[in-house]
Amino acid sequence: MSCVRRLSLAGIVLACSMGLHATPAQSTPSTAGSTGSTAATMQTTPAPPPASSAQPAPGSDEAELWYAMERAETELKRSPLLVRDPALNAYVRDVACKVAGDQCPNIRVYIMDVPQFNASMAPNGMLVLWSGALLRMRDEAELAFVLGHETGHFTARHSLQQWRKLKTASAWMSVFQIVAYGAGAGGVAQLGTLAGAAALFKYSRDMEREADRLGFASVVAHGWAPQAGADLWARMWREEQTRKYDRPLQIFSTHPASQERLDDIKAAAATIADPPTDFGRERYRAAVHPLLVKLLDEELAQRRYAGSILVISELLDDAPAEDKGLLTFYLGEAYRRRGLGDDRKKASTYYAQAIALPGAPPAAWREVGLARRNAGDLTGARSALQRYLADAPAAEDAAFIRRDLDTLGETP
Ligand SMILES: [Zn+2]
Repeated sequence: MSCVRRLSLAGIVLACSMGLHATPAQSTPSTAGSTGSTAATMQTTPAPPPASSAQPAPGSDEAELWYAMERAETELKRSPLLVRDPALNAYVRDVACKVAGDQCPNIRVYIMDVPQFNASMAPNGMLVLWSGALLRMRDEAELAFVLGHETGHFTARHSLQQWRKLKTASAWMSVFQIVAYGAGAGGVAQLGTLAGAAALFKYSRDMEREADRLGFASVVAHGWAPQAGADLWARMWREEQTRKYDRPLQIFSTHPASQERLDDIKAAAATIADPPTDFGRERYRAAVHPLLVKLLDEELAQRRYAGSILVISELLDDAPAEDKGLLTFYLGEAYRRRGLGDDRKKASTYYAQAIALPGAPPAAWREVGLARRNAGDLTGARSALQRYLADAPAAEDAAFIRRDLDTLGETP
């Protein structure tokens, strides 16, 4: 199978990894923004076979396990959760290739449509990134840190070590279950299974520290700002704190986190003398923004509103002006859908704010119109609902809203 074919597909979970060489991810320092050359290399260089030192002896238990992983990857390529957008895949692949350095030809990147933060490495070079991570990152430097951390696990053979612990049949079955669910169902229903199986691959704290060190080295070598890693992990840690009665975030079930580890990441970033300052925010935005509405819809579909409210609020704080209306609308959506206490009131407030901001979607006017109608402001309701129909004439509920307008005494 050629490298380009493997890399153009995206997939599912499974943490753990294999280092084909013991050398850290390295490469010639270059400008982070000079994309293209590494991607081209990845597409024209066939993936070499795994190094003999990493490949299990034929007929061994481990060989069987290895075969299972290869099968899992084949299934991933057929998964309905695969994000197949060519431009996004090319972008993420290019950043992964840079941080992977000379391991680039051995790594295949899969983006999977799951609205949580997660990234994982398999021993055979299968790097999986969940779409929820793309919503939560702010810039290319953060993406590079996450991918550099994962390729660091690969380079340091951490995943292979974890993989080799999987000696029992039940553990193997878990791997197959992941594949079956990933290839079949879709949506977020399978997350419980994924989380359970991923816990089999939990890294030690020392492994995390080493992966962070390798990730940092690669990020800095390519000119990205090292503090991005600390920014991202601090944000993820805040989100984790919203899940008191829920499972840990998926990323933390395989990459153990604590305040101490966050401090380690901050300290590691602080020790880099004269750090580069490129965050690559515009490049990241250009690649991910086309998916923003989809990512936000999937985020809310999880019905984990405390986390989503935090995630969207923090996105809003950091967003450029043109996204403020959209994100404010989705913050309103999160409160409306949760519907606890005075959530509906908060939702109405956010909808009203959204329509005064750039980038508000048509649905913001619909919500404002319905709220005004309920409050007895019929004139205000009419103008907002008319604006909604003007902006979204083909909306699924357009006929319903037109009837509403009829009851308000005027047709659009
Ligand atoms: Zn890790």
